[in-house]
Amino acid sequence: MSSTYERSCVSCGSSEQDARLERCPICSKHFCPDCAYRASGRRFCAENCARTYNYGESEDDDENVDYDD
Ligand SMILES: [Zn+2]
Ligand SMILES: [Zn+2]
Repeated sequence: MSSTYERSCVSCGSSEQDARLERCPICSKHFCPDCAYRASGRRFCAENCARTYNYGESEDDDENVDYDD
């Protein structure tokens, strides 16, 4: 089976085989952990998307409760 839609990191181009891709909640692009921009305990494809997210959601962001993979 050949899927024309192959996911890859929007930033570095890593494929799903190279890295565990995640999807940006803002723009739905995929990104790898290396390129992820972390903010407010979430991960985005870029700082721009993190800003967009924080802009729309005005909850006070406590310190990053981020966990390591
Ligand atoms: Zn990447
Ligand atoms: Zn994004």
